[in-house]
Amino acid sequence: MFETMNETPEISIVVPVYNEKALLEELCTRLISVCKGLNRSYEILIVDDGSDDGSFEKLQRIKGDDETLRLIRFTRNFGQQAAVLAGFRMSRGKIVVQLDSDLQNPPEEIPKLLSVMTDEIDLVTTVSKNRQDGLIRVLGSKFLLGFGQMLFGKAVKLNLSSFRVMRRSVIDKIEACPDRSRYMAVLMSWMGLPNVEVEVEHHARKEGVTKYSYLTLLKLSWDLVTGYSNFPLRLVTYMGLFGACMGFLIMLFLLYQRVVNGILIEGFIVLSAVFAFFAGVQLLSIGFLGEYLGRVHSQTQGRPDYIVGKVVE
Ligand code: UDP
Ligand code: MG
Repeated sequence: MFETMNETPEISIVVPVYNEKALLEELCTRLISVCKGLNRSYEILIVDDGSDDGSFEKLQRIKGDDETLRLIRFTRNFGQQAAVLAGFRMSRGKIVVQLDSDLQNPPEEIPKLLSVMTDEIDLVTTVSKNRQDGLIRVLGSKFLLGFGQMLFGKAVKLNLSSFRVMRRSVIDKIEACPDRSRYMAVLMSWMGLPNVEVEVEHHARKEGVTKYSYLTLLKLSWDLVTGYSNFPLRLVTYMGLFGACMGFLIMLFLLYQRVVNGILIEGFIVLSAVFAFFAGVQLLSIGFLGEYLGRVHSQTQGRPDYIVGKVVE
């Protein structure tokens, strides 16, 4: 009786999928079994982010005529954040759960997250007990979290995990941010909503490989820095200030040597050092300015975050 499409479900589960064919069967079985155990009405939204390994065909087979399973397919790969955003937009539940499709976030933890969601809480975030990823990956994440936390300062409690539960109101607030960079985890942390953090299990990927190369992760980190802070611009200002002060002091020193001690320092080495420094600062400044200009450019273009190719309800 809970599973009819006409009612608004209480809980929506949003899962982005990109080339995870081997895991889909287990994912859906485990998700459905967890959802049935909740005794609340639910829907499971799976967003296929342009897979080319037959994931969508497999999803359609698994869905059959199950109305609680809703599928969306992008025309191409638009990235996890866009897929999650599309899932949020299509979801209808009062409470929305987001998790990865590779089962690194065990669906069996969902009831625990829901249980701490009291009336005062808008968002339940997670930290993994012992993260089952490679060493470089774990260290990289720790660094990014530390660095991001430094950019935001104490006012924001940054959590970058993609396993979370939120109220519908959180999604409305995300929609109210007409941002090109929708790094969901950061945006939600930035909002400073009433939040609890819960410890969850983390499992190693059983099949397939991570969809994030180090280069992609680096891009994502850069997105975090330029999308949410003016730190690089400020850094350039400080460097310029430092360079200018240094140049001024060196000039004073040279003048002093010439006038008081009568020594004329052959300037080539000093000059090259100063020149190299300034040239570096200038190039860096132009680069940083370009980064922000690029953001303004893509913001003014105002293209949508993704294009939906197909919806199967
Ligand atoms: N994913 C996606 N689009 C992408 C990359 C990843 O929808 O372009 C999905 C992927 O299928 C998985 C989740 O995002 O469900 C997290 O990806 P992954 O497990 O590869 O990242 P990791 O766990 O290594 O950080
Ligand atoms: Mg993963």
